[in-house]
Formats: sequence, C-alpha cells, structure tokens
Amino acid sequence: MSQPARRQLFVTTALPYANGNFHIGHIMEYIQADIWVRFQRMQGHQVHFVCADDAHGAPIMIAAEKAGKTPQQFVADIATGRKPYLDGFHICFDNWHSTDGPENHALAQQVYLDLQQAGLIETRTIEQFYDPQKAMFLPDRFIKGECPKCGAKDQYGDNCENCGAVYAPTELRNPYSALSGAAPVLKTSEHFFFRLSDPRCLEFLSRWTTSGAVQPEVLNKISEWIEPDAEGRPKLGDWDISRDAPYFGIEIPNAPGKYFYVWLDAPIGYLASLKNHFDTGGARTLGENRSFEDFIADTGVEQYHFIGKDIITFHTLFWPAMLYFSGRKVPKAIFVHGFLTVSGEKMSKSRGTGLDPLKYLDLGMNPEWLRYYLAAKLNGRNEDVDFNPEDFQARVNADLVGKFVNIAARAASFIAKRFAGQLGAVSTDGAALLSHLQGALESIAQHYEQRDTARVLREVMLLADRVNEYVDANKPWELAKQEGQEQRLHDVCSTCIEAFRLLTVMLKPVLPRMAQQVEAFLQVQALDFGQARQLLGAGHAILAYQHLLQRVDPQMLETLFEPAPAPVAEVLPGGEAVAPVIGIDDFAKIDLRIAQIVECQAVDGSTKLLRLGLDVGDGRIRQVFSGIASMYKPDDLVGKLTVVVANLAPRKMKFGVSEGMVLAASHADEKTQPGIYILQPWPGAQPGMRIH
Ligand SMILES: [Zn+2]
Repeated sequence: MSQPARRQLFVTTALPYANGNFHIGHIMEYIQADIWVRFQRMQGHQVHFVCADDAHGAPIMIAAEKAGKTPQQFVADIATGRKPYLDGFHICFDNWHSTDGPENHALAQQVYLDLQQAGLIETRTIEQFYDPQKAMFLPDRFIKGECPKCGAKDQYGDNCENCGAVYAPTELRNPYSALSGAAPVLKTSEHFFFRLSDPRCLEFLSRWTTSGAVQPEVLNKISEWIEPDAEGRPKLGDWDISRDAPYFGIEIPNAPGKYFYVWLDAPIGYLASLKNHFDTGGARTLGENRSFEDFIADTGVEQYHFIGKDIITFHTLFWPAMLYFSGRKVPKAIFVHGFLTVSGEKMSKSRGTGLDPLKYLDLGMNPEWLRYYLAAKLNGRNEDVDFNPEDFQARVNADLVGKFVNIAARAASFIAKRFAGQLGAVSTDGAALLSHLQGALESIAQHYEQRDTARVLREVMLLADRVNEYVDANKPWELAKQEGQEQRLHDVCSTCIEAFRLLTVMLKPVLPRMAQQVEAFLQVQALDFGQARQLLGAGHAILAYQHLLQRVDPQMLETLFEPAPAPVAEVLPGGEAVAPVIGIDDFAKIDLRIAQIVECQAVDGSTKLLRLGLDVGDGRIRQVFSGIASMYKPDDLVGKLTVVVANLAPRKMKFGVSEGMVLAASHADEKTQPGIYILQPWPGAQPGMRIH
C-alpha cells in the first residue's frame, strides 16, 4: 500500500449553540468527524481538530436573563457540562473554545473590516418589530400572534406550526412580544448588509461550489441560490449581518450600539478556536511549530467542516464568501450529514430524541457500541440515519462480538496454554488468507477517506466472515484433542491472531478504546495502516486474552428508552399531588426574597385582591397584587415581613402591573375549604434577604 505524502488538516464540527446540553444529534456528528480524524492520523497525517460553543445571540441573552445570570456565566455553565459527553464517547477534539473568547472578537472585527475594504458591506434602513416594554428589537422567534393564513393562535413570527405557512412577522394578526406580552411597534433602524448578491460573490460561489467542495446532493440544493432565475436574478440576496443593542455578541467596529448577528461570528469561531489551540501550545504537541497566522495562510493546509443539513447555506455560501473576500483561505470541503431519527421519529430541537446520550453512558452502555452502530449507518452522503434498538442490538452482538471479537477469543487461549503465548509459523493457506486481508487495506482506507464508514464496516465484516470460515474449516478445538496436530493447531491459531490484528487496524478509527486494549494484548505499538503490511511473525509473544467486549443486554436498551421517572403521585392533605421532581438548578431559578409590606390597600372593584407595596431591599417600592382580601385587613399587614417571588415576569392585570408574587398557602379546593395564609419569616430576617 502506498503511503501518501503527509497532509495537514484543519477539521471542525459545527459549533453547538450554548443554550443546552448535547443531544444525540450532536454526538453523531462528533463521532463521524472523530472517526475521520483518527483515520487521517493513522495514515500519518497531521490533524488539528477543534470546536467551540456558539455563545452569542438573542436566545442566549434571553435565556440567561430568565435564569438570573449574565450571558457569560450562562454560557460558562453550559460549557462545564460538555466534557462528560466528549470523554464518554471517546471524541478527541484538540481544543474546545467559545465564540465569546477574545480571539473571536478580534477575528470577527478584522474579517468585517476586510469585507468593508473589499466594498462588500453596505448599510440600509429597515423596519422591524420593537418591544416598547423591553426596549429592544424582537427576533422573529420572539414575536407571536395569529397565523395570517389559518388563524391559529400563538404562532411564531416566521412560520405557523399548525398549517406550515411561512411569512414575515409583520404579517401576523394581533402580534405580541413573547418576552413581555406587549404589542410590538414597527420601528426603523440602520442595519449592515454583506452584499452577497454582488456579481463578484456569485461568480466566486459558482466556482467554489462546483470545485468538489460540496457533495453532489448538496450542490443540487444550493445551486438554485446562485443560478439566475427566469428574470436573470439569483435567489441569494444580501445578508443582514447586524443587530441592535441590547444584544449578546460582538460589537461592530465604528458603529456604536450595533452588534454582529450571531451567524456572522459563529463560523469565525472555527478560526478563533484554532488560534486558541495554537496560542496555548496545543498545536506544538502535534508537531506544528508555526504561528496560527502562518499555518492558516498556508494554501497546503486543508480545511474541512462537518455539519448537519440544516445549516448548509451558512456554510456553503456565506462562510466561504466571507473567507474569500476578506482575503483568507477557503475550506477545501464541507461535509454534510443528514438528521438522526430514533425508531423513525424525528428529533425535536428542544427535547432531543428519546435517546439521551448521558443516560446511555450512565447506564454503563459501551460507547463503542454506539460508535460502531452509527458508523455502520453513515455513508458520507447527506442522508438521514435511523437508530433502531433491535438493529443496534443485532449489529453489535452478531457482527462486532459474534464475528470479530470471537476470532481472538477462540484462538488466544490455545496460544497461551499450549504455546507459552508465542505465535508460530503460518502455512500456505493461512498466508493466503492474511494476504487477502492486507490486500483490502487500500480500499478500506479509500472508503474511510470518503467517510463511507457503512461500506468500511460491511467490507470488514465480509473479511471477518472469511476468517471465521477458515476457523470453522480447521476447527482448532478439535485439533487440540488430536495426536500429532500440535503444529497445525499452532499454525491455525497464529493465523487467527494475525488476522485479528489486521481487522483491528481496519476498525481502529471506529473503536479506539478497544484497539488500545488489543494493542496491549498483542504487545504491539499503536496500530496504523502503514505497518499493517508487516505480520507479527513466529516467535512474537502475546498476553493472555482478556475479555474485550460485552454483548448488548436488551434490558439496557429498554431502560434507555424508558420515559423519565413519573412524578410522585401522592396526594397530600392540601388536596393536590406533589409536582414533578425538579433539580436544584430549577429551584435556583426562582428568586425568593424577604419583603416588607410598607403599603397595603383594598382594590376598588375587587373583593379578592389587595394592592401591596413591597420593600425588597432595592430602594424602591414594588407593586404586587395578591388574592388575600378575604383573610386580611390592609392595616393588619402594614409593617409585616413576608416572602415574595422577586424575579417573576411582571404581569399586566386589570388593576395595574403586578411585579412579583407573595407566597401564600391554600387548599386546592378553595370552595369547600376556603382560607389563604401568607408566609411570615422568623424574627431577624431583613427585607432583601434571599431564601435558599
Ligand atoms: Zn397557520
């Protein structure tokens, strides 16, 4: 097998949005990329494999506000949860960074200035919905209203989940802000645009996209954006790259109050994470001594991005154009994969699927089962992949354990017991089998290069079948009982161990942990494709066989897909069941404070409500309405301390805005068991103290 010249690769996966934990779709992409990276390293190539959290944008800003955290803290907390997944599934990123890192701020601003220099940035005044209460422009997802087509209520600003209609937020009937409930108003603002419709961009994109940089099925999808329509205009318009403050993002140079739209700085995060990897010494440990700037400017360096099909336009049109026209090197290719379904069901972005990767690990399920199964399904094309539990069990148990691991298990004990752990000479039939396996290495490598791991594993299993046929034809367990067959037994078992080593080389990118165990068991150095041409040979000593891989226990799969534990259903004397269990994080979201009731009045027109003026220690009086008029007279309450939910979103009520909620106890059935009792702390508590 010819050893290709040493390549230098820069590989990324898509940056996960830092508003939640990984779901199985992320893990599939990381496993796909990780297998490819490990394969390249086994070919002797240098690979820098990085990723980062995508930290910016309105959804994170709003989620952080709800959680009572700064966006920076919110994103940092999400980042600390990443490691168990990555380590757990043996995903070997060289660096994990954040798009809020200083490298990304500097790079994004520089890329923008370079695009401006190229004459591709322009400003335009646009009209947009604005929330007067929150004093901010509303992203489409935060405007709701009635669908203009079918009239369904509570639909988002960009499309209707009821009838599937797509529209502009301004078309919604009775629109309201999902943040405050206020009716949004149209307001003008100056926005910055990247002029993608410029003929230079279109010319570049039609050249780059047809250079082999995208899969044929992806080119089919995107060519309609670039090619002129009947009227001679492409579908690709200019791209709005700015957002107005308040926004969690990177400030646009020389434009106070303007920020880059998150999708402008997110892909630049690939470069920022690579720069961080270089600046912190990570690249040096991989044998790269140049600076980040020299490395990334080298046209010999191949840049690849693994992504899902939902973000094709950003990566195959916007991103290469940003790089090219800012004078930077463009990606060699974008590798697009389809979605992962579980038992045929599509994944919900917010809920993921029923397959929780952390639960998978917590149950003690082997991460390499999942790596193997997903690799057996991924073929390098933009096609959806289905996880089917029965298929998973069958492939792991019948193929991986039954066909592959068993080869070593059957042969190694004879080598240990009868031949002092030493391999013997291989005769003609064994040599022919081994040479057949070695002959397949080249095509296996080509399939890995094409990311067609489904084909790799099909071919490896066919080779394993050949080895098992050889075992069945020679029956070492019978040879072991026969007089005078000592040498043949040694020959057959040695052939099996040599074959097992070759199959392990072929599976190593998929099963890195198991390959390590095999290397220890065979007492060999790190296996790679190059040295696989050399057999271990007679006299090579191996250790006693240790069990390599368990079979999938169907009970585990059942537990994996069991729904989350049912809520405690015990009915307490208060007339209602205890609510579903929450974690401490959920509780921490509720900010409970000691409040002093400094004012209290009856409410004109209501027999239920009292209007309270509360001092929560922040130097102002909050107005809170509470349905306790049946139990307390205003004068009884003034001067007393109580407990208030201090971070409840203000609610507009008939009589005014209520800025919080006073805690009070009552029976679930107010009619037959009336009475409502407000809480009062023990002496010593002061207004503003938090309740933990
Ligand atoms: Zn509709």
